[in-house]
Amino acid sequence: MRQLIMATNNEHKLREIREILGADYEVKGLADIGCHEDIPETAVTLEGNALQKARYVYEHYGLDCFADDTGLEVDALGGAPGIYTARFGQLHGYGNSHDTTANIRCLLDKLQGEQNRRARFRTAIALIHGGEEHLFEGIVEGTIVTALRGTDGFGYDPIFAPVESGLTFAEMGAAEKNHISHRYRATQKLVEFLTQS
Ligand code: IMP
Repeated sequence: MRQLIMATNNEHKLREIREILGADYEVKGLADIGCHEDIPETAVTLEGNALQKARYVYEHYGLDCFADDTGLEVDALGGAPGIYTARFGQLHGYGNSHDTTANIRCLLDKLQGEQNRRARFRTAIALIHGGEEHLFEGIVEGTIVTALRGTDGFGYDPIFAPVESGLTFAEMGAAEKNHISHRYRATQKLVEFLTQS
């Protein structure tokens, strides 16, 4: 079994990545390697933030690792919230950073009456492998629905419906989501690279 460090403490993400990678990989999170820092994410792109997190682990722990950063890009908002996806509600006076309810409320309000509801989730994964840096991207196109639907998943799942399905991510269940998600697509590219190297 191959060991991989993922630079996150987000249990949802670790579970999802473990389901995607299957039994060939043991994926450890930051807590598993004794890292309890809040790693800075101050870059201006998703790729920059992912690299920043992966470099932090490599520089402080000397371990090969990968990190991801995801943004929701809404066409009618000129690609926002993008790198501000986790703090979208807070930035507009709706609540605290990482407050899912506030983020969703804020986005639905911004899109009220808007006909163009096209959006995409985009994930950038940065891998440091044998000291070398690699980037992988995964995108899922979809629409922002007008009211919350479904209870599975996390984050913006109840209001994002991928073009491949009439359901929102929160209505479709983990297995179905994990086969079309932005993170899955980026992770597939990561796995392809790892299996060839
Ligand atoms: P992160 O880069 O994965 O931390 O995600 C940034 C923001 O996007 C957070 O607000 C997450 O809740 C949201 N997000 C990331 N992935 C997903 C997803 O698969 N479904 C819904 N929201 C997501």
